[in-house]
Amino acid sequence: MKNFNRSSEAYKKAVQLMPGGVNSPVRAFKSVGMDPIFMEKGKGSKMYDVDGNEFIDYVLSYGPLILGHADEKVTEALKSVTERGTSFGTPTEIENKLAELVIERVPSIEMLRMVNSGTEATMSALRVARGYTGRDKILKFEGNYHGHGDSLLIKAGSGVATLGLPDSPGVPESIAQNTITVPYNDMESVRYVFEQYGDDLAAVIMEPVSGNMGVVPPNEGFLKELRTLTEDNGTVLIFDEVMTGFRVGYHSAQGHYGVTPDMTCLGKVIGGGLPVGAYGGKREIMERVAPVGDIYQAGTLSGNPLAMTAGYETISSMTKEAYESINQKVDRLIEGYTKATEKHNIPLTVNRAGSMVGFFFTNEPVINFETANQSDLDLFTRYYQGMIQEGIYLPPSQFEGLFLSVKHTDEDIDQTIAAAEKVFAEIK
Ligand code: PMP
Repeated sequence: MKNFNRSSEAYKKAVQLMPGGVNSPVRAFKSVGMDPIFMEKGKGSKMYDVDGNEFIDYVLSYGPLILGHADEKVTEALKSVTERGTSFGTPTEIENKLAELVIERVPSIEMLRMVNSGTEATMSALRVARGYTGRDKILKFEGNYHGHGDSLLIKAGSGVATLGLPDSPGVPESIAQNTITVPYNDMESVRYVFEQYGDDLAAVIMEPVSGNMGVVPPNEGFLKELRTLTEDNGTVLIFDEVMTGFRVGYHSAQGHYGVTPDMTCLGKVIGGGLPVGAYGGKREIMERVAPVGDIYQAGTLSGNPLAMTAGYETISSMTKEAYESINQKVDRLIEGYTKATEKHNIPLTVNRAGSMVGFFFTNEPVINFETANQSDLDLFTRYYQGMIQEGIYLPPSQFEGLFLSVKHTDEDIDQTIAAAEKVFAEIK
């Protein structure tokens, strides 16, 4: 058994200082019946905790670290930028460099604004969509998570789903009533909402591949039909690519599926491990943002040189070959898991989009939040605890996907599959 004494000590102290001892709820490990593990350092695909335990990391800070921990290029660039000053409250050239790169890669983005988190990106994009259309209502999908802004914290996924808190107290009813939710992949319900409220709908916001109820890709044609319907109704289509952006593929999910929204939200990978978000889209829409336009949104540290540098170094390292290499590792992982679960008679459904992959402990197809909930959560908890003992660090919830980096090796994958086999044999 691994020793977590120092983590336990740190946790005892932390719970006196911060709610649940954490600065973000999913880190508390509540749903997997464990205490959180305090990390000390990371390198490549590995993380090391304060007790000296080593883990192969499939969380990667919930997505950003596509180059793995402490990548040399990112680290060296950050050191040199830090020595020259961390923030000026003025424009810097590195903001142009990152913006150009994002515009080049993400089909829908002609212009963008940098912010400091995914939450800020989606909140701001909604304000712009509402200001641009002059409408108030929005449509979102059950089990999609778009950060914790009031309008979006309704039937959300991620930690909200893990902790069973679908509608948070503190969100005023007057705001919640402008958010309409329907099941993911359910075009019939979407059409019904458009028939009822088409003229009042400012935006449809969605994860083009849902990653916050586990991984749930869009059904064939779902994104295209949404594109047509929103266009016909003058509704802004927003892809929240905070998770999928620069993760699903070289041109993000919109490139992967060939559907271009009006606006896109980004986060995670574009900050390379530092706090960044961004929203962008058609020039005509983005030119409504202050100071060119009348819709206000601002930020003291937005576009700061450290975050821009980490993002630029990360994205510019992600060549088409780099995505291909991660895809191959994902193929290997899926093949190994499929064989291991078949051997030990464990139910498994694999969902995947590019390098985004999620395993559900059910034999039924998972296409929305309801079907994701059919997964065996008790089995997941036992599997999770077993994998931690084997030195495999997975997202501590059935409602989060796995992340791989370019630094994960075939040996890492094989070690993970062997660990899973051992754990399946113990828990079945
Ligand atoms: N949108 C999506 C799709 C996300 O996955 C997340 C975070 N997991 C967010 C928005 C919120 O981003 P942040 O936590 O940086 O505020």
